[in-house]
Amino acid sequence: MQVTRVTFDELQLIPELLRGVREAGYEQPTPIQRDTIPPALEGRDIIGCAQTGTGKTAAFALPVLQLLDARVGDEPRIRALVLTPTRELGAQINASFATYGKHLELWHMVIFGGVKDGPQKEELRRGVDVLIATPGRLLDLINQGEISLGGVEIFVLDEADRMLDMGFLPDVKRVTAMLPTKTRRQTLFFSATMPPEIRALAGELLHDPVSVTEARLAEPVDLVTQQIYFVDKAQKRELLLEVLEQTGGTRVLVFSRTKHGANRIAKVLDRRGVVVAAIHGNKSQAARTRALEGFRQGDLRVLVATDLAARGLDVDGITHVINFDLPNEPETYIHRIGRTARAGASGIAISFCDADERPFLVDIERLIKQHIPQVLEHGYPPSQPPPAPTRLDGPPGPSSSRPAAGSRSASRAGGDRRGRGGRRGRGGRRPDPRRRA
Ligand code: AMP
Repeated sequence: MQVTRVTFDELQLIPELLRGVREAGYEQPTPIQRDTIPPALEGRDIIGCAQTGTGKTAAFALPVLQLLDARVGDEPRIRALVLTPTRELGAQINASFATYGKHLELWHMVIFGGVKDGPQKEELRRGVDVLIATPGRLLDLINQGEISLGGVEIFVLDEADRMLDMGFLPDVKRVTAMLPTKTRRQTLFFSATMPPEIRALAGELLHDPVSVTEARLAEPVDLVTQQIYFVDKAQKRELLLEVLEQTGGTRVLVFSRTKHGANRIAKVLDRRGVVVAAIHGNKSQAARTRALEGFRQGDLRVLVATDLAARGLDVDGITHVINFDLPNEPETYIHRIGRTARAGASGIAISFCDADERPFLVDIERLIKQHIPQVLEHGYPPSQPPPAPTRLDGPPGPSSSRPAAGSRSASRAGGDRRGRGGRRGRGGRRPDPRRRA
């Protein structure tokens, strides 16, 4: 976690929030917080280019809480809406609101699909100030007349590019059409990348925005030790077992490009006595929650995940990230390895590369502008000799070597729309105790 020399006091946060932030253990703001919080507190719209792991949740949650607190009314009603693509992110954002807003009298909750809507409706009827929602369940409850967005003063769109990837853009537009017009609300818009559709959406939603960019996006995560193993596809599982044994990693996140691949990897490890679980979009929410908790608590040594299921996962102390498959989008490589260097910790990222994946490695090395150190001495050497070093000055970004549609959609494994088996996250409860002004 990169921090700055600026202090939270200098950002003009109110004492209650400074206390919340201090109790969360944050000493200094991250760059995205330093750059976003002051203009957001002035009521400006923001377009922020930042990924998960940069501290962007606090970058929007702190100004939302402060602005709502300054104008708190007698009864809670939905005055801030945070739209987020996945249940996991929704639950994490809700937990962050609970942490930062602990000393305020604001109510917040998260809604997402796959669970019965009764308890959510009950809580909504009691009134909330901040609603965090995935698009599907939000639209369901709006259609049932349980939610009205007419009083929204601040709208946060989180992970806009993921919304696009998951096919949520039409739902997002349905939601935004129900908000007060853009000059009558404040909009905070975040996306890790800015493809043309997302720029166009930003144009529609934002009013004279301040642009904030987290520059680290295309840089390697400095604290991660990276290694690449060349191996034949058929021998990757054996190599994984060898690597697990040799590295002795205690909290290992393994990335698989497909859901089926994730299941197969987990099965093989399980048979060899490794305590493991897999998470992806075909798993029930209960199974995903159980797996995540087990991984967080240290009961599971290995978690096998698809990119989408792992996106935004905030688990401390991951010792190793293993790319069982190399991602075909080089930016995904950076997102993945960043899981093992959160909050200033260092970690190790090991990638397996079979013959078909060598073009992906070229893309990755050009993006991060460095050669990933090769481990050539291992038990499963490839049948083809390792490739010549990548020419780093070649064109970065979209490469002709990327495979056609199939593998990209497969990498969106967690993207089932309304989701199944959602639940009210731990953070779904209101902050307490609560005093009302
Ligand atoms: P986010 O990008 O919002 O998912 O945050 C990533 C991680 O950084 C979370 O574990 C946060 O609790 C943590 N974090 C956010 N802001 C700070 C900060 N200013 N100092 C230290 N850690 C932070």
